[in-house]
Amino acid sequence: CGIFAYLNYCVSRTRKEIFETLVKGLQRLEYRGYDSAGIAVDGDKNTTTDGINNNIIVLIKKNGKVKALDEELYKKDCMDLEVELDTHFGMAHTRWATHGEPSALNSHPHRSDKNNEFVVIHNGIITNYKELKKYLNSKGYEFESETDTEVIPKLIKYVYDNREREDLSFSTLVERVIQQLVRSPLLIGVRSKYELSAEHIPIQYNTGELCSPLSDSITLQYGKAVEYYFASDASAIIEHTNKVIYLEDDDIAAVVGGKLSLHRLNRLAGEVPVRAIQTLQME
Ligand code: GLU
Repeated sequence: CGIFAYLNYCVSRTRKEIFETLVKGLQRLEYRGYDSAGIAVDGDKNTTTDGINNNIIVLIKKNGKVKALDEELYKKDCMDLEVELDTHFGMAHTRWATHGEPSALNSHPHRSDKNNEFVVIHNGIITNYKELKKYLNSKGYEFESETDTEVIPKLIKYVYDNREREDLSFSTLVERVIQQLVRSPLLIGVRSKYELSAEHIPIQYNTGELCSPLSDSITLQYGKAVEYYFASDASAIIEHTNKVIYLEDDDIAAVVGGKLSLHRLNRLAGEVPVRAIQTLQME
């Protein structure tokens, strides 16, 4: 029922600072009501034999209060809290269960597979999830939760796995999947462990997307363009900035190489939505 995400691009933050920012963001959304919470952050990097850093996305999920999630974050002794993360995209979610009981397994983020190749947080309902799940099951994709949401990361992986060598950008991949969803107002955050096209190379691994068809709004910080906050409610970001952009129905926001771009879900060639940066009057 609440989404909060934080991207620091080429500005060093310790993992502890990132955790604190994400948890505080969720706490600001607590008033909306929820039954469980979770986050997606980067784990420590493996250096593969070819010397390329292979980023690993870690999911931490907990039934109950944000406070319980907060305590859980510091129990993971495999995660060095003082390590500086130069560029990082963290996503956080509070859930109000609609499909599947409140539990750690059903809480978000949901993932495409055991390697966490694509992870998704979502507010809303996917009405055609049963059909999609049946189709994906028949293609060998196994589900681990009872949620409607889990069809999103699985479908992203399916489209990715079947992309036939074409140069598929992350935005295009996510858009293709959204177009398959019959849904209530939707707000999602997606991140991927892959570089999906040449345009993503400068950012190495962090690509965040949030989109907001229908009623919900998303806020983003411009500022120096090195930190972005995404939230389902402006009250979660007001302590960081009062400069926001509200997305409209079917807008897609993507950050690539530290630059924010906005476009329409069913974009016409060259179409770019113009969304004003607004100044919040909230305290
Ligand atoms: N329908 C999704 C679920 O039950 C999302 C609920 C929400 O918006 O928190 O997991």
